[in-house]
Amino acid sequence: EIAVARDLDNFVFEPATSENFRNRLLLLSDLRAAPRTAQLMLHYQPMIDLGSGQCVGTEALLRWSHPTRGMIPPGEFISLAEATGMISPLTLWVARTAIRQLKIWQEAGIGQAISINLSARDLDNPRMVNEIEQLLRDFQVAPSRLILEVTESAVMHSYMTVIPLLERLTGMGCKIAIDDFGTGYSSLACLRHLPAATLKLDRSFCVDIATDTKQRHIVQATIGMAHELELKIVAEGIENEQVLKEMRQLGCDIAQGYHISRPVPEADFRKWLEANGKPPA
Ligand code: C2E
Ligand code: MG
Ligand code: MG
Ligand code: MG
Repeated sequence: EIAVARDLDNFVFEPATSENFRNRLLLLSDLRAAPRTAQLMLHYQPMIDLGSGQCVGTEALLRWSHPTRGMIPPGEFISLAEATGMISPLTLWVARTAIRQLKIWQEAGIGQAISINLSARDLDNPRMVNEIEQLLRDFQVAPSRLILEVTESAVMHSYMTVIPLLERLTGMGCKIAIDDFGTGYSSLACLRHLPAATLKLDRSFCVDIATDTKQRHIVQATIGMAHELELKIVAEGIENEQVLKEMRQLGCDIAQGYHISRPVPEADFRKWLEANGKPPA
């Protein structure tokens, strides 16, 4: 409660102008209603194995199609939801929708895993794990097909409480990926104790590995370290063939980015999968 109240203070005083503030309040009341409307949807972005080219999973990314403002990107409303204690209904909507999708795919013989993003606030909320467990049971979906992405900074922010919560999720059979890795401040000692299967190297590291030798060395060392710790490494934000090749050469395991596919509605993801996701003959 205190943490939420503190955030609310920030939320109230942060906006630079009253216009801005009014806008955010209006948005907030719409956001409160959004999970009960048809305005929310998930877009899916594939991840491919850099060795085989095969699709190894997909990240579900939240989209809000506002009736008057059009498509609002998550960067604009997730932080608002977090600051006002409204993130957990959104996370639950995402979890339910993704797990329902997994069930549908399971019945259609599509074995892809889905990654969803948890917010730092969800990691303060022990009920979230129960809810996810219940949803997996209700939809009879194998927990190993659900991957929870948590940002490096969210984990490190409250390391001691987050670890047991992540361990409950892995205990159920879900997998954990550390998102935006390299932008937080993990000590290497902490990393050793994380029950994660995957590190997602932040997009900022991909941008200039082809031209910047130092950046390349940092990426190479990070990949090496991940492998020593038996973690898979995903490169986020691959925008061109050159970076894809570089990442492959550096031994990176998995790639995600516009060059492979943008995040797209489910029907388009299935079409992409038909055309690109088949195992090589
Ligand atoms: P993220 O989890 O790191 O997701 C990756 C973001 O990078 C997505 O932005 C994706 O569209 C974008 N991206 C992927 N490939 C490329 C590329 O090649 N180039 C560029 N420039 N961008 C690329 P998006 O969908 O706008 O989401 C932004 C962030 O919002 C996400 O970052 C995540 O932190 C948050 N988010 C999205 N959906 C959810 C959700 O359901 N729950 C929570 N808590 N956060 C979410
Ligand atoms: Mg993510
Ligand atoms: Mg990410
Ligand atoms: Mg990111």
